[in-house]
Amino acid sequence: MNYRRLGRAGLKVSELSFGSWVTYGNQMDTKAAGECMAAAYDMGVNFFDNAEVYAAGESERIMGEVLKKLAWPRLRYAVSTKFYWGITDGPNGKATLNRKYLMQAIDGSLRRLQLDFVDLVYCHRPDPETPIEETVWAMHDMIRQGKALYWGTSEWSASEIMAAWQIAERHHLAKPVVEQPEYHLFHRRRVEVEYRHLYHDIGLGLTTWSPLASGLLTGKYRAGIPEGSRATIPRMKFLVPGLTDPRRNEAVGQLETVAKELGCTLPQLAIAWCARNPHVSSVITGASRVEQVRENLLAVEVVPKLSAPMLERIEGIVAGHGDRAP
Ligand code: NDP
Repeated sequence: MNYRRLGRAGLKVSELSFGSWVTYGNQMDTKAAGECMAAAYDMGVNFFDNAEVYAAGESERIMGEVLKKLAWPRLRYAVSTKFYWGITDGPNGKATLNRKYLMQAIDGSLRRLQLDFVDLVYCHRPDPETPIEETVWAMHDMIRQGKALYWGTSEWSASEIMAAWQIAERHHLAKPVVEQPEYHLFHRRRVEVEYRHLYHDIGLGLTTWSPLASGLLTGKYRAGIPEGSRATIPRMKFLVPGLTDPRRNEAVGQLETVAKELGCTLPQLAIAWCARNPHVSSVITGASRVEQVRENLLAVEVVPKLSAPMLERIEGIVAGHGDRAP
C-alpha cells in the first residue's frame, strides 16, 4: 500500500481506503464489518470513511464497535464522518449546515463511534440556506475543540469550495483541505475539469467515492441483476437504470479484455484507474463481503501497469459513455 498526502495537508492516507455506505447496518452486521475492516487494515488501509446518515447512525455505531474490539493504535488509522442530511426531524435536524446542527451532530457521531475525535469531517453537501461563513466558523470551532482534526466538503462546486477557503484564509480559521467527489470511469468531469485549478491554487486533496459506479464496473450487471447485489436492495432502486444501461455494460465488456491483458480483474482495473490520477489522495472502496475487499485492494499492484498507451486504449473504450468529452 502507498500513502499519499491529503492534498497540501500533512495527513497521509492510504491510496485505497474503505467506506461503509449501503453496506454497514444493511448488508453487513458488526461481525462481517469487522472482518472487512481487519482485512483492509492488514492490507495497509489506514482510512475508514463513514457518515452520520449512513443507516441513520447505525453505520457509525457498527464501526465504533469494531474499532473498540480491534483496538488498533489510534495513530495507525483515520476515521471520517460527514454532516448535512441529518438523522432527526425538525428544521435544524435535516439538510442543513447551520451552526446549531453541526455543533450537536459531532457529539452524536463521537458517541456512536466511541472516539474522542474524528480525523476528518466533511460537509456532506452544500447548504444554500446557511451562509458559508457560518459553516466555516462551525467547522473551525469543531477542530479547535479537538473533536475533529481536518475538515472538507463533499460534492461542493469549485466556487463554493473557493469561497469557504477564502473566508478561512481571511479570518485565520482552519481551512477545508479535502473534497469528496464521485469519481470513476463514467463520472469524471468535476475531478478532471471543474476542480482543475484548486489542486494548485489551494492544495485541495481528494478522497473519491464509488470507484466501481456501485458495481457497474465489476461487470456483474452485464447479464442482468444478480441475486444479492446492490441493485436488488429496494431503496437502491434508483441505481438500476444506470447499472443495467446496455451501452455502458458493453463498454465494461471491452474493459474486461484490457483487464485480462493486464493480468487483473475488472474491479481492480477500475479502481487502479481512479488511483492513477495524482490529484486523488485516496480512492474510497466499498464492499459487501470480505472477498471483495481482498480483491479490490490488490488494485494497488495494477496502478503502475497503467502505461500511457494502455490509458489511451481505456479512453477509447469509455469515450461517449460518461460525463466527459474525450
Ligand atoms: P463502489 O462503486 O466501489 O461500489 C461498491 C459495491 O460494489 C459493493 O458494496 C459491492 O456491492 C460491489 N462490489 C465491490 N467490489 C466488488 C467485487 N470485487 N466484485 C463484485 N462486486 C463488488 O463504491 P461505493 O458506492 O460503495 O462507495 C465507496 C464509499 O464511498 C462508500 O462506502 C462511502 O464511504 C463513500 N461514498 C461517499 C459518498 C458521498 O456523498 N460523499 C456517496 C457514496 C459513497 P454488492 O456486492 O452489494 O453488489
